[in-house]
Amino acid sequence: MFKIHPIRCGWGISYLIESQAGLFLVDSGSPGNAKLILAKMADLGRSDLRLIWTTHAHYDHYGSAQSLREITGAPIGVHPADADSMSNGQSPLGTAHKYGIIYVLAQHMLLSLQNLPVTVPDYTRNHGETLIEFGLEATVLHTPGHTPGHTC
Ligand SMILES: [Zn+2]
Repeated sequence: MFKIHPIRCGWGISYLIESQAGLFLVDSGSPGNAKLILAKMADLGRSDLRLIWTTHAHYDHYGSAQSLREITGAPIGVHPADADSMSNGQSPLGTAHKYGIIYVLAQHMLLSLQNLPVTVPDYTRNHGETLIEFGLEATVLHTPGHTPGHTC
């Protein structure tokens, strides 16, 4: 049985999945948000983070992944099409709709204030592959558009 804990991290939300097999994190928030996720883990009385899955290579989805890996040892994963962006500390823009210009301006402002950490993924998963080897019964769905490697 799983319990999903949404964690507000700035503009985005990270999801901490709790099960008897361990904790699993989907997205890690912006740089500096690791403390929010660690606080939730402490609230749960758990330290067994088994993986960090990144839905896509934007600063508000992997910005704290490197810090969390250093602290917990949890491996970081992403779709192969976004792996280079993370490895180079980039946050490429994908398809933007009506509020896209606001996003572009906000991202330039935020990234000028705080560098995005270089985050080399430990593993990648393509469409249809699973995370079962980490103890999480989940299948990666490739949903490109927002970024080339966006997943659900
Ligand atoms: Zn995004």
